[in-house]
Amino acid sequence: TLMLANIAKTFPGGVRALHSTDLEIARGEIVALLGPSGCGKSTLLRIVAGLETPDPGARIVFDGEDLTRQSAETRKMGMVFQSYALFPNMSVRGNIGYGLKMQKLPKPEIARRVDEVIALCRLEAYADRAITALSGGQRQRVALARAMAPRPRVLLLDEPLSALDAALRGQLRTELALLLRDFGITAIFVTHDQDEAMAIADRVAVMSEGRVAQIGTPEALYRKPATGFVARFVGNAM
Ligand code: ATP
Ligand code: MG
Repeated sequence: TLMLANIAKTFPGGVRALHSTDLEIARGEIVALLGPSGCGKSTLLRIVAGLETPDPGARIVFDGEDLTRQSAETRKMGMVFQSYALFPNMSVRGNIGYGLKMQKLPKPEIARRVDEVIALCRLEAYADRAITALSGGQRQRVALARAMAPRPRVLLLDEPLSALDAALRGQLRTELALLLRDFGITAIFVTHDQDEAMAIADRVAVMSEGRVAQIGTPEALYRKPATGFVARFVGNAM
């Protein structure tokens, strides 16, 4: 279980990006952070990853271990961003194995793990290709495989599909939902796309102006929106 308590963020200059936020995510659960531009989704994700420091009083606990003061490296979170930021001159295999090499894992173990995620992400046919010889959707699958390979505690995805065209997005949305469940991974998925959140997540946290307006299953949000904002935001999604 990932427990987030009293997570707030005020940026220098006084921008209140996030008001005190509490969130509990069960092992294997996929939670979407859904909301309009500027509502604080990426800020919350980056705080969980350890890339941004929250205001004093925050607590981030994973399976009883307090991560609040740990560095991004020791937290062992996996990140996938909107732009995949792969190494273009390295092969698919090279990209996926890169983080494992940095961890100084033995070579056979690296090879085993790389093969495992290549199979899971159905990248066998592309394993030895250069990144530049892949489509956008294939690149995004490599980015996902690379984030999965070190077996992160939680996978954090920040609008991972938003660089793709509409048709590919739809296809990858379904694929991604299945993949994450196959991995059995705990994940936080950021999006401003209602359909995407509803299709992928077990629970959706609808955010507005730095607060979680409501959190619940897609069905619950659709049937019983707590506020007019939630109703408008999820209303036409199912
Ligand atoms: P989007 O959907 O556009 O990615 P978001 O929900 O991810 O939006 P955040 O990036 O979390 O939004 O930003 C939340 C608020 O915090 C915004 O008002 C933004 O301008 C502000 N903000 C984000 N990063 C910084 C920063 N480094 N310094 C100052 N203000 C920031
Ligand atoms: Mg963002």
